[in-house]
Amino acid sequence: MTIAIDGPAAAGKGTLAKKVSAHYGLPYLDTGLLYRAIGRRAFDKGVDLDDPQAAGEIARTLKPTHLDDGSLRGREAGELASRVAVHPSVRAALTDFQRAFAAGPEGAVLDGRDIGTVILPDAQVKIFVTASPEVRARRRTDELSAKGRAVDYERILAEVRERDARDAGRSTAPLKPAPDAHLLDTSELDIEAAFRAACEWIDRHRLDGA
Ligand code: C5P
Repeated sequence: MTIAIDGPAAAGKGTLAKKVSAHYGLPYLDTGLLYRAIGRRAFDKGVDLDDPQAAGEIARTLKPTHLDDGSLRGREAGELASRVAVHPSVRAALTDFQRAFAAGPEGAVLDGRDIGTVILPDAQVKIFVTASPEVRARRRTDELSAKGRAVDYERILAEVRERDARDAGRSTAPLKPAPDAHLLDTSELDIEAAFRAACEWIDRHRLDGA
């Protein structure tokens, strides 16, 4: 079974995708990590993030070891990722890898922005996870404060909005739900409730033989 989980930054799709992959025993690919690694490498090498050729070259030479970097999960890498992710050259370099991952014998769970629309348009199950920008910014602020970091809610909210605008506004593979995706708004749901709702949808599709 292939499951595509898409949605905007900080909607909780990573946590949800991990739980879903463990529950159904499917391999999991966090595709955001690929873009984060490219953004980080481009930045560290002093490459112009807005240069499609240079960013594309970094994407084509990405190695699995480049993903082993704890700083990739942070906010800065997320911003760098969304800047390089606008380039068709970068996206094209990652397409085959993502499709090959999903084509394994058991199928897979992939999370990202364009999995249901571009990478796996034939995925058996598609879920678009969302939440209001305010809720997402609040969750991110709480997460960072819990780690002892000084954070400003208004600033995080501005970052969330800016990333949404960039991800949804780009011309190649913009963030948007696939027409056949199940919309899961987690604004009023905790992770357990979101997980139950996702499993219900997945099981219904499995039973339908979709
Ligand atoms: O999901 P995550 O926050 O790790 O993604 C970081 C950035 O990478 C996103 O804001 C988006 O610009 C880009 N991305 C993408 N397509 C994907 C996954 C991530 O464009 N499939």
